[in-house]
This record gives sequence, structure tokens and C-alpha cells, in this order.
Amino acid sequence: MYDYYDIAIIGGGPAGATFARELALSCPQKRIVLIDEKPRTGSKVCGGLLAPDAQKVLAQFNIDLPKSILADPQIFDVKTIDLASGITRNYQRHYLNMDRASFDEWLLSLIPDCVDVIRGRCHSLAYRSPGEVCVEVEENGEKFEFFTNMIVGADGGASIVRRTFFDSPTKLYISIQEHFKDDGGDMPSYSCIYDPETSDSCSWTIRKDGYVIFGGAFDIKGGRDAYFKQKARVESFLGHSFGEAVKIEACLLTSPRKASDFISGKDGVFLIGEAAGLISASSFEGISSAFLSGKYLADAFASNSEPNRILNYYKRKTAKLRLKLLFKIPKMKVLCSPFLRKIIMKSGICSIKKY
Ligand SMILES: Cc1cc2nc3c(=O)[nH]c(=O)nc-3n(C[C@H](O)[C@H](O)[C@H](O)COP(=O)(O)OP(=O)(O)OC[C@H]3O[C@@H](n4cnc5c(N)ncnc54)[C@H](O)[C@@H]3O)c2cc1C
Repeated sequence: MYDYYDIAIIGGGPAGATFARELALSCPQKRIVLIDEKPRTGSKVCGGLLAPDAQKVLAQFNIDLPKSILADPQIFDVKTIDLASGITRNYQRHYLNMDRASFDEWLLSLIPDCVDVIRGRCHSLAYRSPGEVCVEVEENGEKFEFFTNMIVGADGGASIVRRTFFDSPTKLYISIQEHFKDDGGDMPSYSCIYDPETSDSCSWTIRKDGYVIFGGAFDIKGGRDAYFKQKARVESFLGHSFGEAVKIEACLLTSPRKASDFISGKDGVFLIGEAAGLISASSFEGISSAFLSGKYLADAFASNSEPNRILNYYKRKTAKLRLKLLFKIPKMKVLCSPFLRKIIMKSGICSIKKY
């Protein structure tokens, strides 16, 4: 542990771990520190589904996924349930069902030893002098600080880096998930649920290693009440009770609504992954964008040393990704419109027939 680092990364999820790994491989001489707080619930609140886009990026990295990260069962379709119209449809999907905690630990294990990894919480960040940031960290109840002139915010939807350095709030939901013992009933292995009475977004059920997860995205105000109301409505629709919850967890979830919700950085402070707003507004798939933005920022650091040049390079490299995510916003609006969704689901377009 040093008093000064060239680069401090806040957050060690898919974005931070990828950035740290790729940068350490291309610039092993740089002093890099990564600070990651383990979430209080033990793992990131997440569906833990690895989408084809994220699988493709792992292939581009030449990285194979160990079997130990996979969860049971693997799923081939999503049952979409529209509580407003009562229509259900199944659509083919190509996700890998994973244990998210094991996935994050595995990504951290790929970071070369030359990076200092601190399992602690970043409490505050403040400029001490132009271009020099003081980072205050708490690890095992002890507080300490160090200095850096480059900060990378990879700290997800509730990013302290984004809140400290950028005055640009984005739409946030509260995401609540409960875990129930899987009683082997006829609960769909994976479902996507729309219920405009309780949320303007979507919810899901996922079977995972002997548990059924029910979670959803809700307005922050009144989110808890809306969650429990929706849970009762889903149970009544499916004719099946989830039973007693063994775990409840919650986190903030980013839902970009406009181009300015994607922030790349300024003055030696950079954002990657969900902290940068890089997540699909329509499906909440964010792991592929976390991987890509981490890699692109590492490339930017490897080919430039001056903060503005790094930023310009990073912006250029992420332009296509930001454009792709921008197009997910109208898609989300269509899917979350009860009228349009009903037309699409009624038509049966792209759905698969269950025998
Ligand atoms: C309920 C839910 C379900 C989702 N399901 C899926 C899915 O199935 N598939 C998919 O692709 N995407 C999914 N997403 C999105 C996906 O989880 C994120 O987009 C992705 O994890 C972003 O990666 P990241 O590295 O940017 O941030 P994160 O994965 O959020 O990682 C941030 C890390 O920073 C740490 N951290 C935060 N603040 C601090 C601090 N102050 N000090 C130290 N450390 C800190 C956190 O503990 C965490 O380890 C889901 C999101 C939610 C909320």
C-alpha cells in the first residue's frame, strides 16, 4: 500500500476488474489501486444472466468461463407475463445462468498482482490541489487516506465518484429482490413480468441453485410497498405462492433516458460501467457494457498520458456503445407501454410455442 497511486479505481465489479486487469497487462509500471467494498448482502443484486453480448466480449478477451460459476438450471427461454392484459408468451434466450458472487470473485482473481486490491469502502474523494485527489477509505473498521491524480469510477449505480464530481443525476430505480426456497413447483425458470399498476418498468423470476429469485425495478418513492403489492399480484396470477423469503436485497439501478446520462469523465476523473450510465434501458443488461468500457478506458490509458487525450480516446472508442445503448431507450418505451406491448404480445411475433 502506497501514499500515492497513479490511478485509483473505485469499484471492482465487471467494469473495475476488467479495467484493472487490462491496464496492468499493458502498463505494469503504473501504480494502480482498486478499492472494492463487498456488498452487505454478500453479492451484487443482479439477475446473474450472462447475455450473448457479454459472452462475445469474453471470447474477444480470450477468456473462458469456469464451470464453477454456472448456476442450475441453464435456461433457454423467457416467459413474458403481462399482468395488464393477462397475455403470456415465451421467447427464446441465449443467456448463461450464473452465480453472480462467484463471477465477481473470479473476475477479481484475474487481476495481476501488481495491482493493490483493497477490500474496503471509499468514503470520500476530494481535490487537495489541482489535479490531486485525496481518497478516504475504510477497511476492516480502520480509516486511511492516499493521493492520486487519476480516478476511475467503476462503482455502479450509486456511484460516489459520479455524485462527487459530476452534477448529472440520471433516472434511478430501486431494485428489490427476494430469494425463496425452490419447491419444485411450476414456477417458470425465467420470467419477465410487466405490471403497470405497480411499476413502469419490469420484474423477473429466475431459478438459481435451489432458489427462486423474484425481483423488480420500482420508483424509489414507495418502492417497497409497490414491490410487495406486485409480488401478491404475481402470486395470484400464477396461482402459486413464493413462500417464506430467505433473503431480501436491494440496490439502486440506473436507467438511462437521454444521451447526457452517459458520462465518460472530466479533469482526470473517468467513469466506466454502470457508473457511466452504460446499461441497457430495456433489459438492464449491463455486464457487456461494463467489460467493454473497462477495456476501452484501459486502451486509452495505454496509448495516452495526458488526461484530456485519454478522455478523448475513451469517448471515441465508446461512441458506438453509447449509440447502441441510446437506441435501447425507445425500445424500453415500447416494451413498457401497455398498449404497444399488448399488440406485440397478441401478435405472437418472435414467440416460441410450448408443447
Ligand atoms: C437487480 C439487477 C439485475 C440485473 N441483472 C443483470 C443480468 O442478469 N445481466 C446483466 O448483464 N446485467 C444485469 N444487471 C446490470 C449489471 O448488474 C450491471 O450493469 C453491472 O454489474 C455493472 O457492472 P459495474 O462493474 O459497472 O458495476 P457493479 O457490478 O455494480 O460493481 C460495482 C462495485 O463497486 C463496489 N462499490 C460501490 N460503491 C463503492 C464504494 N464507495 N467503495 C468501494 N466499493 C464500492 C460495489 O460493491 C461493487 O462491487 C442487473 C442489475 C440489477 C440491479
